[in-house]
Amino acid sequence: MKAVVKTQKAPGAELLEMPLPEIKPDEALIKIKVASICGTDVHIYNWDSAAQVYIKNVPQILGHEFAGEIVKTGKKVKKFRVGDYVSAETHFFCGKCAQCRNGQRHICETEKGKIFGLSCDGCFAEYAAVPERILWKNNPRLAPEIATLQEPLGNAVYCALGDYDKNLKGKKVLIFGDGPAGLLAAGVAKAEGARFVTLVGRHQKRLEIAGKIGADITLNEKENNATELLSQLLNIGKGFDVALEMAGSKNARDLAIKSVRDGGRLSLFGIDTDPFIIENSGQYVRSAKKIIPITGRLIWRTWRETKRLLESGLLDITPVITHKFPLEEFEKGFRAMTERPKVSGKVILIP
Ligand SMILES: [Zn+2]
Ligand SMILES: [Zn+2]
Repeated sequence: MKAVVKTQKAPGAELLEMPLPEIKPDEALIKIKVASICGTDVHIYNWDSAAQVYIKNVPQILGHEFAGEIVKTGKKVKKFRVGDYVSAETHFFCGKCAQCRNGQRHICETEKGKIFGLSCDGCFAEYAAVPERILWKNNPRLAPEIATLQEPLGNAVYCALGDYDKNLKGKKVLIFGDGPAGLLAAGVAKAEGARFVTLVGRHQKRLEIAGKIGADITLNEKENNATELLSQLLNIGKGFDVALEMAGSKNARDLAIKSVRDGGRLSLFGIDTDPFIIENSGQYVRSAKKIIPITGRLIWRTWRETKRLLESGLLDITPVITHKFPLEEFEKGFRAMTERPKVSGKVILIP
């Protein structure tokens, strides 16, 4: 089979002819219909310091977002059968540790950091072996190009809805970050009935996509300094009910926490390594602002919420799909994701 393989611990990847994956008793063999490139794949492709944490062994087939059909099942597979149309959660989980027993399988203690397509061969190939435990059965009516995006869309759903104050109806929502996750979150917030959605980003083309998918107001961070931006935001929102930090920048996080009204909620999804300092803890406690770190998706709660949104007809994520290539042209896909100015949303690969 054809596959995109990381062959060296260095930038790049190669299209190679690889043997069909052997499935273990608890795995299914999936014929991949469509896959999509994630920001993590770009880190791995470029082989920057963030990628080196994930990939321990080469050669390895890249990719973790997909939609496909089961063509073979291992002896122990019980709930899925040949012909099922599936996608997958990417975080492995044991089902037994304290986190798993408390509805937090996405941060499983035993399988910490084990992710499909990062810790093992992935789906940028004609076929992939996937454990039953992480498979998700798709609605047959869901287009494969949308089904492959459920994994990143799940990040956006979890971030937008948070952990417990799940109702966005009538709320004022502020999003930092115009990467695919931020754009998808704008769509989710609107579909969930937000009164208005403001998105702050840095790339004109992406801000246009944000407008198409659900943002009522978009602001270009590059055209304003931080003080101007904050005064504009405070002016627009008079205090936002909910802010989502999806840019991974200290600046955005500081602005986000200042822009949330007292008692409001801030979801932190973006990753950076800067210190996170609350200057005056007394003031913060009295503000009753809730800060929620978001990683991965709640398994399977977020998947069910994502399904509900896609099936409701209220959420159309097609504006986020900006490029499609046959798998053989994967290099064009990675180029589209890295070129400046940034114009890409999600890039689809078709084996
Ligand atoms: Zn992903
Ligand atoms: Zn566990």
